[in-house]
Amino acid sequence: ESVINRIAAGEIIHRPSSALKELIENSLDAGSTSIRVTVKDGGMKLLQIQDNGCGIRTSDLPILAERFTTSKISSFSDLSKLTTYGFRGEALASISYVSHLSVVTKTKAETCAWKAYYADGALIPAKEGMSPDPKPSAGNDGTTITVENLFYNTPTRLSALRGSSEEYARILDVVTKYAIHNPSVAFTCKKAGSPTPDITTPSGSNIKQAIKQLYGQTIAKDLVHVNTSSDDNEDEDEDEDGENSWTAEAYFTNANYQSKKTIFLLFINHRLVESSRIKKALESIYNGILPKGTSPFMYLSLQLDPRSVDVNVHPTKREVHFLNEEAIIEQISTKILETLVGQSQ
Ligand code: ADP
Ligand code: MG
Repeated sequence: ESVINRIAAGEIIHRPSSALKELIENSLDAGSTSIRVTVKDGGMKLLQIQDNGCGIRTSDLPILAERFTTSKISSFSDLSKLTTYGFRGEALASISYVSHLSVVTKTKAETCAWKAYYADGALIPAKEGMSPDPKPSAGNDGTTITVENLFYNTPTRLSALRGSSEEYARILDVVTKYAIHNPSVAFTCKKAGSPTPDITTPSGSNIKQAIKQLYGQTIAKDLVHVNTSSDDNEDEDEDEDGENSWTAEAYFTNANYQSKKTIFLLFINHRLVESSRIKKALESIYNGILPKGTSPFMYLSLQLDPRSVDVNVHPTKREVHFLNEEAIIEQISTKILETLVGQSQ
């Protein structure tokens, strides 16, 4: 059974950066304003994330790494929203099947922190012969999740990974993108033992400042900012809070910025997602604006009715789909194009 669970876990957690994505989302869901990431050997030896969020109640620790354990569903009516926001209660369970996982956590109500170790979806003792129960520990309010020796028991996953510097680059990419989308949260990312982080962002920043800090002044000075929503669509009268209502915020570079490779950040309902179709559609805005062979920077944050989104329905499906995708992207593209053209006149 645990072999099957390991294989299933590998479908959700592909590499260190995908484990980190899940952990960052958990820290953000917990209301953290500070998220610190420490990495050893591209995340294969160590991936640690320390937050100052709400913490995990001691009574929840025994079931924390059980599959489908989630605190993010309070009522039956939320069920339809559950999977589409990425709340499946599978991340920590999956990680516990393919790594050495430990958690130190403290809620405000607790007088001390608690430490727990997990394997194969359940609490395990820190050392053989000890009880598996969580132990009191030193720690501040918030949660520190430590993932060691990722894929130590799944050699095929391990062999599919690139070297530690490429895996670390992917980790930096994930932290960078979440830091831009969450400029009010202070992020750091560093290699274990290194005195200086490779990423440090302040809390209380804004998206544009964050883009400037993380991608550089050349991008930041050539940005257009666009907000649009289903309300801006005059052609159709859709019900305001029905499945078709959506909002979008975009930061796109103008013709002054020309890069070799497109940088594309897509967030749907605050989850970082991938879509080669949307990327292509948005790149085509620049036909006739950018010289051939050059590419833009594009940040798009979409808020859709969760019922209309098909993110992570199946963990192996990495690309997002949603209702009226083409029409929505078309409307956003038009607005961005108008803004770009308007600016250059
Ligand atoms: P999901 O995020 O889908 O609920 P996860 O497996 O990612 O499932 O996490 C399981 C549960 O563990 C969460 O619902 C949450 O209650 C708790 N949790 C995980 N990480 C944190 C964290 N950093 N701070 C507070 N609670 C957390
Ligand atoms: Mg989660």
